[in-house]
Amino acid sequence: MNPIMFHYFHGDYGNHKPCQGSMSANHLEQIIQHQKIRVLDVDEWVFKLSNGTLQDCETCLTFDDGIREQWDIALPVINAFDIKANFNLCSFQFSKEKDNFEIYRHFRNYYFEDLEDYYEEYFSQCVIYFKKSNLETPTDINFSNYLPNSTFYTLQDRKFRYYRDEILKENHFLILDEMLKKQKIDTVKLEKKLWIKKEEVKDLALQGHEIGLHTHQHPTNLDKWGYARQQDSFLKNQAVLESIIGKKIRHCAYPCGKKNDHTLRLMKEIGVKYAYSAHDYDFDGDLLNIPRIDCTDMLKKLNIK
Ligand SMILES: [Zn+2]
Repeated sequence: MNPIMFHYFHGDYGNHKPCQGSMSANHLEQIIQHQKIRVLDVDEWVFKLSNGTLQDCETCLTFDDGIREQWDIALPVINAFDIKANFNLCSFQFSKEKDNFEIYRHFRNYYFEDLEDYYEEYFSQCVIYFKKSNLETPTDINFSNYLPNSTFYTLQDRKFRYYRDEILKENHFLILDEMLKKQKIDTVKLEKKLWIKKEEVKDLALQGHEIGLHTHQHPTNLDKWGYARQQDSFLKNQAVLESIIGKKIRHCAYPCGKKNDHTLRLMKEIGVKYAYSAHDYDFDGDLLNIPRIDCTDMLKKLNIK
């Protein structure tokens, strides 16, 4: 069975509000204890995958982005079951560089009634932006065909991602920054609450969890980046994380599962042995293209409510 990919958690500790795709500690416990699966330590899972001895019921746990709630909500659970998991982290948050990536998500989650409300504001800002830039607002696109592998996306989710990744690209952030400005949000203060801290990353590694690369800045369109830009991002990510944990990193998750031939070449050059996609498909023997199942799909599969 493919590794399970986790992002968001909700729960009282740390006061984490539910959001799209978020899970509770109880969901995680139910997955771990489910009779149809067996959760292995990530090292054992990749070892068995590599030598072809993996059983159908055997999976492992992977957590992406290094966000706070994984430390607050998920880590106590996996440590209670003595499971060693994989944490793929971006690293701009440990450097002087700024990126509002997680601020945007927090903003979306805490400053709007619901996601529809957020999308409404986003799309209306887009219309303003299109007008200002003398661009046509797209009207004839069938968003329901976009990202067919992500079965849990709504039509608006698909439209949002299409606008973000196919139309606006870097300008997507101009739209979000406009929205933040409108709400007068102190991003410097907010940022401190959103990430797993440096010393905690070190602690994760000391506890035996496997730290993985995830690029320095977490682009959502890595597949459109050239070699030099990707090299810069992965080398920074590797240098920052390896200096925190004091050992060589062998795992990587491609941000949003996006990659191209430059990415694969880089993985080999920087010594990554196991790299994870963000999509669920049959493993084809390529250790740099390991499929994963999203935790929300896993809940459905196991019929966990
Ligand atoms: Zn990510």
